[in-house]
Amino acid sequence: MEDVIIIGTGCAGYTAAIYTARANLSPLMLSGTQPGGQLTTTTEVENFPGFPEGIMGPQLMMNMQQQAEKFGARIEFAKVDSLVKTSAGHFEVVTADKTLEARTVIVATGAAPRHLGLPGEEKLIGHGLTSCATCDGAFYRDVPVCVIGGGDSACEEADFLTRFASRVYLIHRREELRASKIMADRVLANPKIEPVWNSTVSAYLTDDAGEMRAVTLQSTVDGAEKELEVKCVFVAIGHVPNSGFLGDLVDLDENGYIIQQPGRTATKTAGLFAAGDVADHYYRQAITAAGQGCAAALEAERYLAGH
Ligand code: NAP
Repeated sequence: MEDVIIIGTGCAGYTAAIYTARANLSPLMLSGTQPGGQLTTTTEVENFPGFPEGIMGPQLMMNMQQQAEKFGARIEFAKVDSLVKTSAGHFEVVTADKTLEARTVIVATGAAPRHLGLPGEEKLIGHGLTSCATCDGAFYRDVPVCVIGGGDSACEEADFLTRFASRVYLIHRREELRASKIMADRVLANPKIEPVWNSTVSAYLTDDAGEMRAVTLQSTVDGAEKELEVKCVFVAIGHVPNSGFLGDLVDLDENGYIIQQPGRTATKTAGLFAAGDVADHYYRQAITAAGQGCAAALEAERYLAGH
């Protein structure tokens, strides 16, 4: 029986691991399908305290992993299918090939990129439809691409894509960016980025080989449609929390985020804690996720001491 199982290896998970490992709880981490979490798909992180010159997202996550392992955290590559609390008061963590037992569980599974839900979407992923400029941007040199969204992610993606693409259209449903001022100003000053205001994408259009050829733009003002030629669409319209496997052990809000007890990381189930983007729809920052990971570790430690 494990004292602590941490599900997820993003900022929240690794911070929880560092704290529980230093408390001699020898945490077992289950990595999920994206070890390192969302920061592994980003470029430079400029706002994580302690790195005045910035740090690359994947490097930051490798540092966190090293730090957690140094204190005795164990990491297994496994996706959790379900979680059960037994009548004996411990948890069964069910993965594809085994069931693990734990006295406490910290859920730090983060969130996955949201898509528009248009026809043919699934087939197009990897053929001109993606949500990761860092992963796929370099494949689209000297061709036009577009980014959908108006938040920090969309701006960051658009800015990064100007290294490769001939033109980057930033398609936003309003005429004002949601992004922070510094990001918005940077993007609007970039001559390679062309904002397409008051527009959504209503269809993806493919060529004979099934690759992205263009999108249909629909005006949010008068509904008028027109075609825009792009070789790749980068979708940056927010995220969906990875909370679906938890059943009724947790309460979820209307968007699927885990509801924590006020000011805590505890959930409605004793011994089950939630940290980071799976529970936080408000801040959604690497540093706030790390802070919640720390809080969850301290709460798990106190729970174990009291039982
Ligand atoms: P976000 O701030 O929620 O922005 C999502 C954007 O997508 C919004 O502009 C939204 O439009 C648009 N959108 C949502 N649903 C849409 C739909 N169905 N069709 C068309 N457009 C749609 O998400 P995010 O940009 O991923 O950022 C999430 C959090 O991470 C934020 O707190 C952000 O500050 C943070 N972040 C920080 C950094 C950084 O500091 N380096 C980088 C990335 C992200 P509306 O504006 O009209 O709602």
